Amino acid sequence: MSDETRGDRGWMRHAIGLARLSPQSPTAFSVGAVIVGADGVEISHGWSRETDEKVHAEESALNKLDPDDPRLPHATVYSTLEPCSQRASQDRAPCTDRLLRAGVRRVVIAWREPGTFVVNCVGVEKLREHGIEVIELQDLAEEAMSMNRHLRL
Ligand SMILES: [Zn+2]
Repeated sequence: MSDETRGDRGWMRHAIGLARLSPQSPTAFSVGAVIVGADGVEISHGWSRETDEKVHAEESALNKLDPDDPRLPHATVYSTLEPCSQRASQDRAPCTDRLLRAGVRRVVIAWREPGTFVVNCVGVEKLREHGIEVIELQDLAEEAMSMNRHLRL
């Protein structure tokens, strides 16, 4: 296991802890997100419904930063769930679009959108199409979705 991969697991565990802070919803997943700079220092973090009832974890983390923050193009974003590629709230940009706009370098996720609320999430594919490295830590998927069991059919 490389040092980078080992670090990824630590940050993902932090994101999982944040996901547990999300107010539970019958219609949306609880997700945690952490943005880490190239120097390995946390820049921002967020969780589902942190600031309002519709905000997503990655969105909440990005909303705390200047969109032109010079650390973003070198950053890694850890999200417990695959970033959404479309949203029920039409007035808000999908997290995939927000991440592309921010210009982040890497995205690390633990589990993929299972199609409970959105039929076909293509967040990972879309990020990769734009040259962003996407890592899936499948061994942490169970833990990362453990607070969403009430939503699994
Ligand atoms: Zn989202």
